[in-house]
Amino acid sequence: MNLATLMACATCHLALTDGTEGDSTGYRHPVTDDRHEVVPVDAGQLRHVFNRCHTCTGAPPVWNYRTALIQIVALAGGTAQTYNNQWHVCYRCAQLIEADDSDALTAHCAALMHWPPTSDEYTILRTLHRGIVLGREGRTLLTTTDWPPARITAEMLPKIRDRFTRLLRGPANLPASINDRGERTTLANQLDLVPMYWINQEFTDLVNEVTGDQPPATVTDDIASSPAGLIAWPEPVGSARHLAAVSWTPHADGWHVTGYRSVGSALDDDLMPALRHEIGWLVPIHAEYIARRTKLDGRHPLGPLITAWLLIKQQMAETVPAKLPKGTIKAYQRSRRPAPEVRIVRIKPRSNTPLERSSSAGLRTRANPDHRFWVSGHERQQPYGPGRSLRRPVDIEPFLKGDEDLPIKLSTTVRVLGSRSTDKKRNTDHG
Ligand SMILES: [Zn+2]
Ligand SMILES: [Zn+2]
Repeated sequence: MNLATLMACATCHLALTDGTEGDSTGYRHPVTDDRHEVVPVDAGQLRHVFNRCHTCTGAPPVWNYRTALIQIVALAGGTAQTYNNQWHVCYRCAQLIEADDSDALTAHCAALMHWPPTSDEYTILRTLHRGIVLGREGRTLLTTTDWPPARITAEMLPKIRDRFTRLLRGPANLPASINDRGERTTLANQLDLVPMYWINQEFTDLVNEVTGDQPPATVTDDIASSPAGLIAWPEPVGSARHLAAVSWTPHADGWHVTGYRSVGSALDDDLMPALRHEIGWLVPIHAEYIARRTKLDGRHPLGPLITAWLLIKQQMAETVPAKLPKGTIKAYQRSRRPAPEVRIVRIKPRSNTPLERSSSAGLRTRANPDHRFWVSGHERQQPYGPGRSLRRPVDIEPFLKGDEDLPIKLSTTVRVLGSRSTDKKRNTDHG
């Protein structure tokens, strides 16, 4: 289930609010526009989309507040203006709403629009804001806002995980498909205990290079790095470069897998501590139940997870425990929680001299190629039993073939990947 798709009107390019139950047309303009019907399309198809706070228009929206449908009748003209029953609100405006301070909300918004307190617009705005503040019926985290990404380090992972589990246990709603209270609590309890993996930059680059071409892999307990986990990259991966982290937790005959985008320092400095406290770093953008033995290729929205698992499985990478800040470890001790487990995943250091092998590049054959490429997975009948007379199916997963120092040749790119030291050595050797 994709949670990140923003819908916008193809005519006016305004981001739209969701459909309401009983409303067959579904999407609405922020304010009903009599001049044209809404034409909902995926915002990704439009060039410039206006996705701003409905109250101040000054910042990207964070929360969706629900109210009854608000209509305001102007006394002078007697005309009624229909507004909305959903309000995409930025973090600053939401702080004022949560403080029940509709006057401050109006003052903040009117100042941005240069509307003096004596104007008719100010009066309408004040009425509208009272309607939202007094009539609000809960709020939902927006998962469609395209935040600048955060830079994630291994040391941050316990805190990042804990902020998200607190959000799961907190009162704010998540999108309907992942909002079941029981499931939210179960997920939070599971995430509390998962090992966390931080992929280093070199391995992240490798995943980005090869994930688009990764052949279908059968998802089994065998390729998952652990029964449950949270994996994070220093910067987002995947074709859209939106995926900052993925968690997987056992569920029925498979896993609940959730992909997240990260929230970078997107707000004014004075708001960031509150945002980090309340929401944290991760916003779910993809949630899916993946049954055992599902086949997934690298183009799936969660493909980078599968690619990372495959490369770890074929022992291209090694994991080493991350050294966590003392403060983090002490905080866990104080709350009587087991120490958080963070592992750094990195490409194994080169073992032998790459130059000797590269120098014979002219003699490469299919068995001895001059580049690296994916080999498809398949099922093999493995002999076993008395006299090896019986056969049982064994999954041979896709793997990246070729010496580790060779360039990766994919359908679109050829690039040499190497650690700094190896690159330097190679350059020096070439003189
Ligand atoms: Zn429109
Ligand atoms: Zn605002």
